[in-house]
Amino acid sequence: DISVITIDGPSGSGKGTVATLLARQLGWNFLDSGALYRILALAAQKHGIALDDEERLAVLAARLDVRFGAEGEGKGAAILLEGDDVSEAIRNESVGAGASRVAALPAIRAALLQRQKDFRQAPGLVADGRDMGTVVFADARLKIFLTASAEERARRRFLQLKAKGDDVNLASLIDEIRARDERDTQRAVAPLKPAGDAVLLDSTALSIEQVLASILSEAAS
Ligand code: C5P
Repeated sequence: DISVITIDGPSGSGKGTVATLLARQLGWNFLDSGALYRILALAAQKHGIALDDEERLAVLAARLDVRFGAEGEGKGAAILLEGDDVSEAIRNESVGAGASRVAALPAIRAALLQRQKDFRQAPGLVADGRDMGTVVFADARLKIFLTASAEERARRRFLQLKAKGDDVNLASLIDEIRARDERDTQRAVAPLKPAGDAVLLDSTALSIEQVLASILSEAAS
């Protein structure tokens, strides 16, 4: 059976960075499941499909022509939608908001399920998302639930955006993060919550290196 390590948690917890580094270090495959919801939101925009048109979105999700770059490092590698590189485009805030809307639709989650499971290939998989440990890879050998305070997550996002030269306001970022947490944890299908057998890790006062070291030691035990 091919080993899976799942890393779930809210946005800004550092799970994307940690999961990418962990996969690289182990030499395992990497699934950035959030990217799939983002790509779907972008494809819907491109094809003029409303973000609440569950039926048409489900058809789009089932047929979605998406390929991940050869390096297989998810966020670092190229992501192609219908042949176009959308790696940058899927990272903007409006696509993120659209992703969280389509992710609330049961037919969409069902349509993307097998596509996510297909990432489970030798020698192993690190899967990053919201429901990796609770739904998609419920039999994973190690499940991590990574959190951090809303203030700390907003501060990290603030520094990222400022480095890009964006004009940002910390107070409104905190509000946005709280609103998104609320949507992701309160939705009816696959709400964001730790699996019963997940290891809870709070990264508020930890560096990326410290989080990585603690996951590696869990994996070795
Ligand atoms: O992780 P990321 O910010 O890229 O995810 C975008 C959105 O997709 C999240 O806000 C969440 O609503 C949704 N998502 C999800 N299940 C996953 C991954 C992401 O519902 N496994």
